[in-house]
Amino acid sequence: MREYQLLIDGKFVPAADGKTFESVNPFTAEPVARVARGQKADVDKAVAAARKAFDEGPWPRMSGEERSRILKGIAEKIEAASADLVALMIEESGSTYRKAKGEVWLSGKNMGYFAKLANRDFTRPIESLSKPGVSRNLIAREPVGMCAQIIPWNFPLQMAIWKLGPALAAGNTVVLKPAEETPAMAMELAKIIADSELPAGVVNVITGYGEEAGAALAEHPGVDKIAFTGSTEIGKKLMGEASRDLKRVTLELGGKSANIVLADADLEMAVDGALYGAFFHSGQCCTAGTRLFVQDEIYDRFIELFTQKAKTIRLGNPADKGTDLGPLVSRKQQERVLSYIATGKKEGARCILGGTAPDSGELKAGYFVEPTIFVDVDNGMAIAQEEIFGPVVSVLRFKTEEEAIQLANQSKYGLAGAVWSQDAEKAMRVARKLRTGTVWINEYHLISEKAPFGGYKQSGLGRELGEDALEEYTEIKHIHVDEIGDRSKKFWYDSVVSPTPQPA
Ligand code: ADP
Repeated sequence: MREYQLLIDGKFVPAADGKTFESVNPFTAEPVARVARGQKADVDKAVAAARKAFDEGPWPRMSGEERSRILKGIAEKIEAASADLVALMIEESGSTYRKAKGEVWLSGKNMGYFAKLANRDFTRPIESLSKPGVSRNLIAREPVGMCAQIIPWNFPLQMAIWKLGPALAAGNTVVLKPAEETPAMAMELAKIIADSELPAGVVNVITGYGEEAGAALAEHPGVDKIAFTGSTEIGKKLMGEASRDLKRVTLELGGKSANIVLADADLEMAVDGALYGAFFHSGQCCTAGTRLFVQDEIYDRFIELFTQKAKTIRLGNPADKGTDLGPLVSRKQQERVLSYIATGKKEGARCILGGTAPDSGELKAGYFVEPTIFVDVDNGMAIAQEEIFGPVVSVLRFKTEEEAIQLANQSKYGLAGAVWSQDAEKAMRVARKLRTGTVWINEYHLISEKAPFGGYKQSGLGRELGEDALEEYTEIKHIHVDEIGDRSKKFWYDSVVSPTPQPA
């Protein structure tokens, strides 16, 4: 079994009280790794190291070029370690081979992107306010400081990179707390970081439980910013914590994305897109298209094709290259998904496919749930409003474009959504009316490191990825440089403490 310690100030150390816990393979239910169970004493040390690295260390003061070079080195090391990272991701998170391979590749690519951005010039003049001989005005962007980053288990490597990339590119220092389900993934990244040219203390990694290490980190007065991806419930709690010291907060939370299929869509493409939207990574994506709206005229044909194709999804060992759907990450998650399925049935929705956990053959030990399709769903039902985070899709029928928009927006969430139509103008019209941070037209789940990603409403606060992400990791500073040498022309000349206002 793999074993890992905490990364604090450039060194791997056990938890202060020596405690450990294990991560579990969701396919076999066997342990994968034993890791340190970090708690308050360890968080204190990690925050002190990151604080020192920010206040006194070279990292925030280094040139963008130098930071860029070091981050590029990390991206290259991720690439070089990709075979092992893919194997571990499959083992620890139940990700299928294809998902794990894609995620590791994207993680290196995303880090490479932020490495490039690190070299961006963060200062710009305010042209309209600056007058030669009178004043120069600049806007500088400077790192926020010491950032607490708390991440989930569904994309254990990519979520770490989405957080670390912009934070480091902008010159911040970090304490990262991975999810308790996938600590080994984070510690493999920690090894890469410790082996890079990043100065000690710039990135510290504390494995542990949410209510222990996570809570201690979020409450710590030495933290300048909390960046969190996870449930809306914990996101709200962290925002409350942050209010005590007015810590900066960015949150990427839940979703219940509407996937709208208009009658003029390319039917086969929309069916495939809807399957991908709902069932990719067993539905364990915050962007999952779990509210599938299908227009009246094509409804019956669509459901027939959709169900037929869903039946061909292959459940199996996630390490097998042919497997489409792996297990859910944990027993807890499997039970949660099954309880939502029971709720859906109780609420009167009709389950036309799946609905159970397979319990024979090679699937017996794993935390599987079959691809599940509910029809006759009312938008007010729990299965249409709450995030299930499993392979469960609720299909809703609509008559008009306006009705689809109205129903889609009847949600506390606003992370993503999609529209399928061959009428470009109509699709754009619908896209503009959806109250979500991302909309795909004739596509699903496509996320680029160059485009901002985040939520409207209770799906979050702030954006990850793109240049916007970098800005979330900076404070804005206005610098006014007075160029009037003549003291008698200064606006405060007539009375230093109570000058007459003058036009700028
Ligand atoms: P999930 O239910 O999918 O595990 P969570 O929001 O509970 O989602 O977890 C996401 C991340 O937040 C994990 O790293 C977890 O350890 C952490 N976490 C959970 N509870 C807390 C908490 N009270 N304070 C800080 N972090 C927490």
